[in-house]
Amino acid sequence: MASTTQEPEIRTAQWWGKPLADRLVSEVRERWESQARPSEDPPCLASVGLGEGSPFHVYQRQQARVAQRAGIRFRGEILPRDVSPEGLRARVEELAKDASIHGILLEHPLPPAHDFARIVSGINPWKDVDGVGPTNVGNLATGRPVQVPAVALAARALLQHYGEPTAGRHVVVVGRSETVGIPLALLFLLRGERGDATVTVVHSRTVDLAEHLRRAEILIPCAGRPGLVSRRNTSRGAVVVDVGLATAMGPDPSAPPRVAGDADARSLEGWARAYTPVPGGVGPVTVAEIMASTVRSWEAARTGGDRT
Ligand code: NAP
Repeated sequence: MASTTQEPEIRTAQWWGKPLADRLVSEVRERWESQARPSEDPPCLASVGLGEGSPFHVYQRQQARVAQRAGIRFRGEILPRDVSPEGLRARVEELAKDASIHGILLEHPLPPAHDFARIVSGINPWKDVDGVGPTNVGNLATGRPVQVPAVALAARALLQHYGEPTAGRHVVVVGRSETVGIPLALLFLLRGERGDATVTVVHSRTVDLAEHLRRAEILIPCAGRPGLVSRRNTSRGAVVVDVGLATAMGPDPSAPPRVAGDADARSLEGWARAYTPVPGGVGPVTVAEIMASTVRSWEAARTGGDRT
């Protein structure tokens, strides 16, 4: 006979990113200012996106605001959407050679004509501040990270900030892209107290997805599929760090689309122990982590460490 007793609702915490992002930005500023000589230029970040009026414009405005708070110089460039592969590669190469620039972000996805991995592989691993080039992914895979994708650092920083240990815990990452899912999985596999997790990676070809998701103590969806994660396929008391970001229609079909994560936050209330809201969870911390990586590259350049 089916049980009539229901498990009591949990008090679900919302893990907002702003307090952590603000702290990281202040630390970043203090870090470079305390080292810089009076005549020395601040660290500089260049961000390159394609397509006037694309969402990259919005990202760059946000990056510019955060860079200003961190005291970091910012150069946002939007190239025409139909720029040739040679044209884009040449521009990134120019920025890569410019010693006054310490970080380069190539906004993606790029249109299919461009080979993202090939372009970023031409950037020195320190300047590849989003850690997406093949050298940086390889460094992470072999346990010697140089620059790590900011979104992965942000997920880890949020867990640490809210006191959630990872060592010995079961982390399930939904997504296997080279720039998000794989680096996330590798980061949590690293030895040490902020890693040491048991990691499962699932993707669109995974059979019995819900069964894998329910085994997660910490679930990190990064699929870009709103509603993929909900009470139906998570275990009671799980923690959900929602990396997914997509536009989705809300309940009112006449209203404009809204930004949504992969988790159906409403269904997780009273069921999950905590989740990161979208927008406002992982996103602000990711931008702050980009600034931290830019300062690390600036430090490496000052000591010649970037040439190793
Ligand atoms: P992507 O290249 O499209 O990869 C998506 C991954 O999700 C793929 O591995 C795909 O599996 C998997 N997937 C898709 N649908 C699925 C389903 N129904 N069930 C299970 N797995 C599924 O995207 P990405 O570049 O990795 O980015 C992932 C998400 O993170 C996007 O929403 C992006 O906007 C977001 N993001 C957020 C931030 C932030 O700061 N918050 C930063 C970067 C990215 P297959 O490999 O089998 O196709």
